[in-house]
Amino acid sequence: MVKIIPLGGYGEIGRNCTYIEEGSDGLLLDLGLHVDRFSKNALPEMSLKALRSIGAIPNITDVKKKVKALFISHAHLDHLGALQFYKHLPFPVYGTPFSLAVIRQYNKKLNLKPVSFERNIKVGNIQVKFIHVTHSTIQSALILVKTKTARILYANDFRLDDAPTLGEPPDYEGIVAAKPDILILNSLNNEVMTTNPTEQSVARDMCSLLRKITKQKGLVVVTTFASHISRIKTIIDCAKRSGRTITLLGNSLHKYVKAAEEIGIDFEDVRVLKRPKKIENFLASLVDPSQHVLLVTGHQAEPSAVLSRMVRKGLYNFKKGDEVIFSCRVIPTPENEENRRALEALLEERNTNVTKEIHTSGHATRPDREKLLTLAQPKLVLPTHGTPELNNSVKLLAEQHGAQARILENGDVFVWP
Ligand SMILES: [Zn+2]
Repeated sequence: MVKIIPLGGYGEIGRNCTYIEEGSDGLLLDLGLHVDRFSKNALPEMSLKALRSIGAIPNITDVKKKVKALFISHAHLDHLGALQFYKHLPFPVYGTPFSLAVIRQYNKKLNLKPVSFERNIKVGNIQVKFIHVTHSTIQSALILVKTKTARILYANDFRLDDAPTLGEPPDYEGIVAAKPDILILNSLNNEVMTTNPTEQSVARDMCSLLRKITKQKGLVVVTTFASHISRIKTIIDCAKRSGRTITLLGNSLHKYVKAAEEIGIDFEDVRVLKRPKKIENFLASLVDPSQHVLLVTGHQAEPSAVLSRMVRKGLYNFKKGDEVIFSCRVIPTPENEENRRALEALLEERNTNVTKEIHTSGHATRPDREKLLTLAQPKLVLPTHGTPELNNSVKLLAEQHGAQARILENGDVFVWP
């Protein structure tokens, strides 16, 4: 008999965490941060207990004694961000080299164990295997958990992109071979009925846009997700091809680029500045902006990120001929929408052109989810990482594909068979 206990991310978006137990063996899948609750409610030096009480991190207290290992699916904060607050964990943390390099940027004290795709890892009597998929960060995985009584496939944050710009397309053979009894399936974007454009098509759009803009006399500023290593590589590549010098500005870009370099990704000596004073000095010393592309933090127009500080604090004097490119979408919270609206209004006042959504999502839309259901043929689907409405729509979709489905909430105890 296998027990599945959702500890975060069920009926909500963020702090992903699932506990699986059979006999005396327990393991955790992801230990994420609820980024929104954390940034709004957390105070410096908050204890783990206080962070749990504001719903920023999962509560693993009741299961901790039985956990023999934690497996991280990919390098996003809502899947690994809670780890930064643990001084010590009594079990090892498994992940792909990039996930572990990102964890090391936040926390150097944990027992980190690298995982290579397709290799079985034994945790007591349970076996675990990582299956490569595409997502908006590199080395993302579906995690297959094989116990004596069940095969459980954890598919939380993925897309099926056959034309990525960095890394391999998804491992379809691995997905077919997984043959899960239970599929834990991400719900985000299930309401989107069309297939996402590929990363390669975004790269073509980015390069042709930068080629066109470069004839203008102004500065080009691009912003995207700091963890989106393939997109960052694309922007660097397109900027160089347009004949301009590219510089990266911002602390989180620095963190993720350093993590990627640690695993051997080459950024060809691109300059990355993280300290506010150095960024200010660099911007103040830009003699000929038309020679530069800047890749900066602040894709959600966060007030403390570089893009907002450039505009609001006058770190750079935006004017006609300059261009700001958002290689992202607005994550739809009232705060983000308001921040973005205000920032765009300020740029408009300065006659600076704004180009939006040179972007494709890293999250599966309905067609990807249908493909996964067809390939994996699960008996039961447990929707996760979505609002209750999205979870319900995934339940209906699973049923249309001949599977049973159950909607779980954080703290429920589900037993199979
Ligand atoms: Zn993710």
